[in-house]
Amino acid sequence: MENTAIRFACNSCGVCCKGRLIPLTLNESRQWLQRGHDVAVILEAFDESLWPADSEKFKHNAKRASQIHSGNAKINVIAIFAANALTQCPNLDDQNQCGIYEERPLVCRIYPAEISPFITLDPADKVCPPEVWEAGEIIVSDREANPSLQVKIAQSRDEDRLDAHAKVAICESMDMTVAA
Ligand code: SF4
Ligand code: SF4
Repeated sequence: MENTAIRFACNSCGVCCKGRLIPLTLNESRQWLQRGHDVAVILEAFDESLWPADSEKFKHNAKRASQIHSGNAKINVIAIFAANALTQCPNLDDQNQCGIYEERPLVCRIYPAEISPFITLDPADKVCPPEVWEAGEIIVSDREANPSLQVKIAQSRDEDRLDAHAKVAICESMDMTVAA
């Protein structure tokens, strides 16, 4: 069998803390706002025209969604709350160090591993420099994250499911009714 073990040793370059939106749990979103930072909201919608209802993708995403009735149509809406780090994360200091390291969001603890079960980690898709993939602990082996990452990924998926209805309800209360 092909050896698919992927090693990783973060060099703290801070590149992954720039130029992106960082998905947050509902609780992390509250903390982010309390620190005085911005949270962006992205609404995604899907129904059975995108994936068959018995497909793994539909079932996985339906658990992350809140079902909305629009006339006779039933639409699944996923509300993603994300920290604004489009220029750079407001917690990144001058030395490219995380200023809230002990309290950083779950996705920051999981990166560069993948949270979606439908995406396989490929170092070429990540912003990390090439040398960090040449040493360090094995984070993925034969497409399976190592045990400590698996715990964090499972927690992230659980939080997504637990927060799904509340996040959509918050969007409705703010009259956000358009999803892509
Ligand atoms: S919270 Fe910390 S680890 Fe996460 S993006 Fe911001 S600076 Fe980087
Ligand atoms: S880009 Fe990669 S190597 Fe650089 S800080 Fe982020 S996770 Fe670590």
